[in-house]
Amino acid sequence: MPSAPLVVFYSSAYVVKGKSETVTKSGVVAELIAAGQAGAVQLRAPKPVTRKELEAIHAPAYVRSTFEEKESFLEVGPWSQELLGSILASTGGMRDAVNEALLHGRSGSLSSGLHHARRAAGNGFCQFNGLALAALEALKEVGRVGILDLDAHAGGGTFDILGDDERVSLADVTVNGFDSWEPTVPARHFYVDVGDPRTYLDEVERALRHLEPVEFLIYNAGMDTFEKAGGMKGITKEIIRKREQRVVQWARQRKVPYIFALAGGYTWGGLTLEQVAELHLETVKAFAR
Ligand SMILES: [Zn+2]
Repeated sequence: MPSAPLVVFYSSAYVVKGKSETVTKSGVVAELIAAGQAGAVQLRAPKPVTRKELEAIHAPAYVRSTFEEKESFLEVGPWSQELLGSILASTGGMRDAVNEALLHGRSGSLSSGLHHARRAAGNGFCQFNGLALAALEALKEVGRVGILDLDAHAGGGTFDILGDDERVSLADVTVNGFDSWEPTVPARHFYVDVGDPRTYLDEVERALRHLEPVEFLIYNAGMDTFEKAGGMKGITKEIIRKREQRVVQWARQRKVPYIFALAGGYTWGGLTLEQVAELHLETVKAFAR
């Protein structure tokens, strides 16, 4: 069992007040962590992602337009320096989490808005694909990386960027058809759209089995699967808790470094932002234990 505190990347630059959950909830999660509610966790500010790093995962023209077209819309709202700064900080958090996990076994970043971003375009509140960035960072040190995507929606952007990369395995368990993708290489691609909440944890188990040969795990820990956070009726908090414990147990048994991103989780099912943050805290707690 790891003994050093879990390091989680976050800075106040992640938060842009008055916008959607994607750029607000991390601040509330960070407050709960700072209050000791997730156990032994140390928050650390990341280095923002650079243009050069982004050009390794995105088309240079798309990166340029995101930085320079100040009349445009970003995925989370009208272009502003503050919003761009939030995206760059929280994307960079994923890279720093990888390097922390390579040193100490585990880490995470309070980042959201990653997995729908394609090579040449943003999509679904996601401007840049921090999961793809994390995978390429990990691949500097290990031979094979797995991305486990348990957000309610599918990671079509991650597939667009990394689907052809032979060093990357993708496992995606969704409860919603948004941004679906078709596996092209059965040995490396697992995709299931769950129709019955009673089979959800079994499908997570199948996804983990599919990732069996990987040497580094990137976990997109979306909470929008939860029945009251915009997810599927029947997926309870207890199921979510078991899910988080199982992912962590899997990585620890295999001695595979593992990191998380917050991913989706919304107030439109009737939860307050604080309740959404408490859900995300389940991931942090499971990693910190
Ligand atoms: Zn989602």
